[in-house]
Amino acid sequence: MAASVILLPPVTHPDYFKVISPTLSVPSDPRVSIPVGLLACQRDPLLKELETVVVSSAISNLQPSSNNGAKKAKKSVIAPPLPQNPLIEVILHDTVIFPEGGGQPTDTGIITTLNDGKQWEVVQAKRHGGHAVQYIEVKEGGIDAAIQVFTPGVKVLVSLGQHGSARRYDHMSMHTSQHLLSALLESRHNLPTLSWSLTNYPDPCYVEVPRGMSYDEIMAIQDEANKLVFEGRKVYVEVQELDEDREKLNPPTLESGRAVGKALPEDYTGGVKRVVIIDGIDRNPCCGTHLPSIHNLQLFLLPHTEALSRSSTTSARLYFLSGPRLIAHLTSTHGLLTKTASILSCGSPLVPERVDQVIDERKRAEKRVADLETELAKTLADVLTNDIISAPEGVLYKKHIHRVDNTSNPLSFLTAVSFATTNALPSPPTSYLCVLSSSPLPQTSSSMTVLLLFGSDDKIVKVAGEALRTKLGVKGGGKGQKWSGKFTGVWRQQEDHLVEDMLKEL
Ligand SMILES: [Zn+2]
Repeated sequence: MAASVILLPPVTHPDYFKVISPTLSVPSDPRVSIPVGLLACQRDPLLKELETVVVSSAISNLQPSSNNGAKKAKKSVIAPPLPQNPLIEVILHDTVIFPEGGGQPTDTGIITTLNDGKQWEVVQAKRHGGHAVQYIEVKEGGIDAAIQVFTPGVKVLVSLGQHGSARRYDHMSMHTSQHLLSALLESRHNLPTLSWSLTNYPDPCYVEVPRGMSYDEIMAIQDEANKLVFEGRKVYVEVQELDEDREKLNPPTLESGRAVGKALPEDYTGGVKRVVIIDGIDRNPCCGTHLPSIHNLQLFLLPHTEALSRSSTTSARLYFLSGPRLIAHLTSTHGLLTKTASILSCGSPLVPERVDQVIDERKRAEKRVADLETELAKTLADVLTNDIISAPEGVLYKKHIHRVDNTSNPLSFLTAVSFATTNALPSPPTSYLCVLSSSPLPQTSSSMTVLLLFGSDDKIVKVAGEALRTKLGVKGGGKGQKWSGKFTGVWRQQEDHLVEDMLKEL
């Protein structure tokens, strides 16, 4: 009998979310929007859909733009682009779609109107004051009709959808890992997290710390983090009413005295304060969605810090990966390594050694080519020089030599031949004009043949250059006793003959 695999849906443990103020409760009146801090996505981070009702809707003024969010720092996360279609802003009684905040980007999702089963795409969600606003794309039927659909009291199913669920799971993995990492950096090395960035998938995220860290320090933190991950410490969220005046004057601190979390946003009117707790490790005010436990959050730290270029500070970034990004990173690096190993015909562990060997061999080969080129240039120059010297006196010696050469810089070899020739000739030299040309192999209509003219008389060199320009379409120029140019296309016998004819006419 074939084995069967049943995937059980993950469940958030029942004591994940706790309201600790006796006067605070999650509003149950469906005409009221539950404030940010108490939303379903923040009470149960694994909940993927929820039946709820519309509280209000309005036409959105948010404009689509081609560089939506692109002006943000390169490594910070960019909100999904807004579509060209019109948008409406809908506030629901409750939602599983997290509005951006606390360094965590917006979720995306789907709202299904239950009376007609129609699906609407939520392209972004934002916090307005204390409430979550979902931006819904109106693809057809007009914006007024859409507002009609989303009248208060209408029943909807709000869900993350497949894409939104994967996006959120990635964000939660990185965000909860950041809390774990920051707590260990603080407690083990007294390194506060100055900032952090949840970068775009699949890039590594980073925390910014006041100084660079050694390989050993980083590895020790990684080891400890993964021991805690193996233990599967639970995560809890405690919420209480916010004493706004006190919070703004005295930002919360840990026992160590460090300020935790950033100051509350100026427009925050939610009246709810959330503290995210990793059992026995960390307490941190945060409005993000966090996984119910750190189990499965294997943390990989890039084993070096990157110094920041701001001259007045010594801070550094420590990059990390976990969850889906860690898998993506392993898959891509393994792919690169295997491909490289196959190109080098060796096993993966031998790749660095083989690359070293190849680079070394290449350097030696380049040196040998350069030496042989010098030797060959001298040999060719010797033949030319003997010919020029033994030519009858008073007659202009003329010679065309064509070569085939696949080097990227054929002119340098031709120049070497011309130098070696002029150096070997006695002074005053016999009257001469040489044309050297070099074509690649194979040739195509866009191939480039390089030509170099050199001779004893400036004027003759100039006249010959002009003739090459008019008769063969060579583009080039020169100065004194040298002229060089390029011919585009296939260099055939016909071109050789044209050069011979040009020489005869001089
Ligand atoms: Zn946080």
